[in-house]
Amino acid sequence: MLEKRVLWKLDNVTKTYMMGQVRVTALHETSMEIREGELLVILGPSGSGKTTLLNLLGGMDSPTGGHIFFDGESLEGADERRLTAYRRDVVGFVFQFFNLIPDLTAVENVALGAHLAQNPLSPESVLEEVGMADRMNHFPSQMSGGEQQRVSIARAVVKNPRLLLCDEPTGSLDCSTGRLILELLEKVNRTYGTTVVIVSHNSAIGGMGVRVATMSSGRIANWVTHPTPVPPGEIEW
Ligand code: ADP
Ligand code: MG
Repeated sequence: MLEKRVLWKLDNVTKTYMMGQVRVTALHETSMEIREGELLVILGPSGSGKTTLLNLLGGMDSPTGGHIFFDGESLEGADERRLTAYRRDVVGFVFQFFNLIPDLTAVENVALGAHLAQNPLSPESVLEEVGMADRMNHFPSQMSGGEQQRVSIARAVVKNPRLLLCDEPTGSLDCSTGRLILELLEKVNRTYGTTVVIVSHNSAIGGMGVRVATMSSGRIANWVTHPTPVPPGEIEW
């Protein structure tokens, strides 16, 4: 099998927050590599550092120690302009609570994502790809949670990002809707070759990852590899 190229690398990354006088270390000397086109799952209980890790990978936050590399170049070394370009063109984010703009329709929300990117896909075709072709002109309040999450995935995917970071993407959905969203994320990974990182406190989701990291108290406690992952449609929780 062709070895995929390592595109992201965390080298001994630490993130410490100061809360008044109290120092909180959200991430301790963490190292990992992410290969282009892989689908990676990161599990761990609330407070274990998952969102911190995603925000660092997405260039939304910078480490207090260690280095993060994208394509061989360190993000901390980049000036603000290059970091903005990284966030805008390389990274797409999917959140637990969708974060759609309430007074824009589905297609307008997705077009906004496209507008910000260098090399966007067509909003209509991506909405079709996520199964929302007949909801283009609906407002978020007129859509179910699962439908809103499809639109929010479309908004991220329309940028044609190389990395799709998903923070608890099924966290506010029931199990069967959540499964459809996980199937969609796997389809995005397969169709566009997007590198997908799914973060969840729900260990059942680990089954769909070829590689699965489990975090505990700001560290990656272990890695598991599934040569034949479970199809997301078969995950139960
Ligand atoms: P998870 O996503 O796994 O629930 P987080 O990465 O959000 O974990 O948080 C890890 C730890 O860092 C927690 O103890 C949290 O309270 C702390 N933390 C996260 N963000 C901040 C922040 N902006 N300021 C202070 N502490 C924070
Ligand atoms: Mg979190």
